[in-house]
Amino acid sequence: MCSAALSSPAITSTGIVRVVLDVPLDRQFDYLNPGLDIHVGNRVVVPFAGRQLIAIVMALPAESEVPANKLKAVIQAFDDVPFEDATLKLLRFCADYYHYPFGQTVLSSLPLRLRQIKPAVSRKMWVYTLVQAIPEGLIGKRQLVLSRLIALLQQHAECSETQLAEVSASWRKNIQPLLEGGLVSRREVLAIRPSLAASAHEPTLNDEQAHAVKSILHASNRFQPWLLFGVTGSGKTEVYIRLLQAVLAEPQSQVLIMVPEINLTPQLEGRFRSRLSQFSLVTLHSHLSESERLQHWQAAQSGEARIVIGTRLSVFTPMPHLKLMILDEEHDSSYKQQDGMRYHARDVALVRAKQCQIPVVLGSATPSLESWYNALGQVDNPAKKPTYRLLTLKNRAAAQAQLPRIFCVDTTHSPPEAGLTPQLKQAIEKRLQRGEQSLLFINRRGYAPVLHCSACQWLADCRRCSAKVVLHLRQRLLRCHHCGDEQPVPLQCPSCGNADLRPVGQATQRVEETLQQLFPQARVARVDRDTIQGKDALTALLSAVHAGKIDILIGTQMLAKGHDFANLTLVGVLDTDSALYSPDYRASERLFAQLMQVAGRAGRGDKPGEVLIQTAFPQHPLFAALQQQNYAEFANTLLQERITLQFPPAAYIAVMKAEAADYALVEQFLTDLTHSAREFVAQHAQNFPEKPMIYDPVRPGIARLNRMERGYVMLQCAQRGALQQLLQAAVAWARQHPLQAKIRWVVDVDAIEY
Ligand code: ADP
Ligand code: ZN
Ligand code: ZN
Repeated sequence: MCSAALSSPAITSTGIVRVVLDVPLDRQFDYLNPGLDIHVGNRVVVPFAGRQLIAIVMALPAESEVPANKLKAVIQAFDDVPFEDATLKLLRFCADYYHYPFGQTVLSSLPLRLRQIKPAVSRKMWVYTLVQAIPEGLIGKRQLVLSRLIALLQQHAECSETQLAEVSASWRKNIQPLLEGGLVSRREVLAIRPSLAASAHEPTLNDEQAHAVKSILHASNRFQPWLLFGVTGSGKTEVYIRLLQAVLAEPQSQVLIMVPEINLTPQLEGRFRSRLSQFSLVTLHSHLSESERLQHWQAAQSGEARIVIGTRLSVFTPMPHLKLMILDEEHDSSYKQQDGMRYHARDVALVRAKQCQIPVVLGSATPSLESWYNALGQVDNPAKKPTYRLLTLKNRAAAQAQLPRIFCVDTTHSPPEAGLTPQLKQAIEKRLQRGEQSLLFINRRGYAPVLHCSACQWLADCRRCSAKVVLHLRQRLLRCHHCGDEQPVPLQCPSCGNADLRPVGQATQRVEETLQQLFPQARVARVDRDTIQGKDALTALLSAVHAGKIDILIGTQMLAKGHDFANLTLVGVLDTDSALYSPDYRASERLFAQLMQVAGRAGRGDKPGEVLIQTAFPQHPLFAALQQQNYAEFANTLLQERITLQFPPAAYIAVMKAEAADYALVEQFLTDLTHSAREFVAQHAQNFPEKPMIYDPVRPGIARLNRMERGYVMLQCAQRGALQQLLQAAVAWARQHPLQAKIRWVVDVDAIEY
């Protein structure tokens, strides 16, 4: 599968080779074939602007517009499996829809190894096992790496290279003598091996689940989007498993399952591996090593892997026998890529499903308003038929598990002390007495969100952004969560010299500290991006929680998703008020989803769960809907709002974002843009039955990011097609604007953040 010899010259006649490259120019380039065996879809190496670049062959045309004597020759051709038509067609659609250069679209969809000038051979991977007890005195006092490697080997029956490499970069050198001495053995692994341990436990589906499975399978040989709307714990994953069992029974068929975040893959992977153990499964996400990624990608492309579980980029993975796609937590904003080609994996999945004529299942407890709208139909237009079919799972699947009770604690009556209201403290204390676990949710990592001078009201700012820096006390740093810049904590106020600088507000580190003071006997663990790096760190922590070694968990939204803790009976939400009245029209949709998800962590076992939300606005309708766990009603209210305001999903938007060191340039560019776009609409009035809105340039919430001054223009149309026309004109216009060399600009179609 991964042999990739260089093709020998002199097999075919010479000709023209038309390729795309990873360069920001929206065009293809012609080269001469010096006699290599080259096919459409192959990877080749070509000279470009004094460098050698990997290119993908798009066509072998009879002639070129460039005179033959001006054409350069292809340097080398690889015969690893080429791109197929289906994948190129999907990438073509994306390049057009997201207005991103096709060459960059194609090349960025590949694993890094395939973007390098090398044959695509994946390295052999090994796992290591300790086969004999380590004799006393073998490890010298100073051999720290060796002793850590041995400790790791003693803990696990088998250790992967990735695990060992986490000990030290020099692990190979250290382990070599053990291999030679026969103390350690190794065996080659295929990443895609079916798993060993199968668990047969297969619950009987309840009526709603059975109905969902039956409906989807009944229409499994054509394009059909399904919205599987089920509260947390209602058995959506069980539905996915049954679908896979049925679909994979057909020889060769493949299934792609997408999850929003890498943190969710190990769990789902474990469950799928044990229930579908006879099928080879690979994962695709950012925590894989480059050689694993290549190996997994190739297994998907060759058809060897029957199940692929991946994050958003996996939507482009070539799978020749794809028969079903599933997007779990379809509402999650991490499906939207925020740089490069700003695609939304859910939308791309829908296009792919349509191209392949297969079903696509979108699962969520709190569907995106986009999907909700598509599943309802007729909301703003009586003639509109729903394009998605809705399947609902109303109850928690496991017999004993009940949905948690949700209460608001009014912080205007019970002011929190160090972030915690008396009610929340009591509730935690009760859990400690009963030996149950609590989870506190606060969506801000660090110690405190601001450092403040009480004498002159100075607040610590980022040097590069228009944003406050977050105090990280343990590292004694002020860190910007937007650009990553770090500065030491000043000893005195830079503005007035006052030495009494105070942290204001709460973040995870500080809450952890408070809890340790309040409950010195409790075992407290913090989960955020500062404490959890690498997938093993989270797995280790989660197993500690399951093993009952932790009493209180504090964490950011990293904790909110997917995890299933049987002994967790209390969820406390510290502070969400800033999102209740945010200027971002999506903020309440996102907040509801987030709260529903954290709330869903409580009471998953046989003990009932309780959720306490601290807020100054307990009367807010969002909380009422949350308490009744009535997402449908809340979503309908939000949808009416969007329809009135003509915001997505009731209309389509795109933003043109621009940035430069000097805002005057940005403003001029964007102002010119709005003028030319309005002119275009006036000239083509017949194409725009409903007049698009072209807003004046504005500045985003973070007006300066990493020393660049930013601005954007929003374009809004009632129809997708009209918006695409307008964008095409705008992009063509921008590409030749005189200022375009001095500023950076991008288009963000269906933008969710500005
Ligand atoms: P979701 O994906 O909607 O959060 P899961 O599929 O993870 O829900 O199911 C939640 C829990 O209920 C799991 O422990 C699962 O094993 C169990 N479960 C799912 N379906 C059933 C069923 N039909 N009968 C009993 N238990 C079930
Ligand atoms: Zn001061
Ligand atoms: Zn910054």
